[in-house]
Amino acid sequence: MREFKIAEPRTADEVAALLAETPGKAALIAGGTDLLDELKSGVARADLLVDLRGVAGLTGLTPEKGGLRIGAMTRVVDLAENAGVAKDYPSLTEAALSLATPQLRNVGTVGGNLCQRPRCWYYRDPDVVCRKKGGFNCYAFQGRNKYHGLFGGGACFIVFPSDLAPALISLGATAAIGTVKGERTIPLEAFYALPDADVTRETVLGKGEFLKSVWVPAPAAGQKAAYVKLKERGTWDFALVSAAVTAVVKDGALASLSIVMGGVAPVPWRLKKAEDVLRGRPVTEALIRQAADAALADATPLRENGYKADLVFAALKRAVLAVV
Ligand SMILES: Cc1cc2nc3c(=O)[nH]c(=O)nc-3n(C[C@H](O)[C@H](O)[C@H](O)COP(=O)(O)OP(=O)(O)OC[C@H]3O[C@@H](n4cnc5c(N)ncnc54)[C@H](O)[C@@H]3O)c2cc1C
Repeated sequence: MREFKIAEPRTADEVAALLAETPGKAALIAGGTDLLDELKSGVARADLLVDLRGVAGLTGLTPEKGGLRIGAMTRVVDLAENAGVAKDYPSLTEAALSLATPQLRNVGTVGGNLCQRPRCWYYRDPDVVCRKKGGFNCYAFQGRNKYHGLFGGGACFIVFPSDLAPALISLGATAAIGTVKGERTIPLEAFYALPDADVTRETVLGKGEFLKSVWVPAPAAGQKAAYVKLKERGTWDFALVSAAVTAVVKDGALASLSIVMGGVAPVPWRLKKAEDVLRGRPVTEALIRQAADAALADATPLRENGYKADLVFAALKRAVLAVV
């Protein structure tokens, strides 16, 4: 492992200043469950680790403006086991409980989960310099791509691995970003960027910026939500495809509908065309099939991942039937 220094800031302003001022490469460390692997394997390099553990105001679940503020340094286990979250946001509990292992949930944080790096085996191989690491090729495009994306690829076919992100975006969450000038707030959906913007990054965080918290609005009257995760094996695993559905249900039809999928694109993928098909009509299996087909019209399957199209339908069907 290469040598690095550690800074232990106490305030959000100090974090932003350290990130903005560090001449070499600085990396934020939260629980370290992803970052330390990357540093040990040589996939990531940092001259300075900015440790978020002692920073005031980044931890905890706090009722705010009728909704819930979730600090970036809140441990996944504390989200997963919170009774209020299970009551108001069951899809978020489902996503948190589906994530990794008890050991990783005990250490990993919400912010780290939302900002974790992709699991693409070419990216994670220290000997491969793919586009995401400043190289010229996406090796998944013509290589082994069973676990790669159906949508939004082009420059890079990673899938964004977080379980919390689709659930939170579907619930209408916003992200509070710490900056050198204070704080800015954006929809969590806009926090993620496709590879065309900058193939080396997955978020819109700029120099000196980091995720402070997410805020989830209070559930609307009659709101139901579900998270379905399809995996290759029964034990812990990343999603092959996951679906988060949030909707107000009236007489067997869905209104105020938001569908977001994981495991299918470089960002949590909103299925607006499927939402348009489903909105306001009595839900039947044929209608869900039609909705999945509308979404899949934008898919560009690779050589080994065409099976994910079937999983898009299956995940959508299970999640929609769970809320209706
Ligand atoms: C074996 C294994 C299985 C896993 N399975 C799943 C799974 O099924 N589903 C799933 O969703 N995840 C899974 N993960 C990923 C796991 O959830 C993440 O490793 C964890 O949530 C990261 O949290 P952390 O606090 O340890 O982050 P760290 O490792 O400390 O950081 C992760 C990344 O985020 C950045 N970062 C951290 N906090 C912030 C912040 N506040 N603002 C900006 N950037 C930040 C860091 O710089 C780093 O690049 C798995 C991981 C492992 C090792």
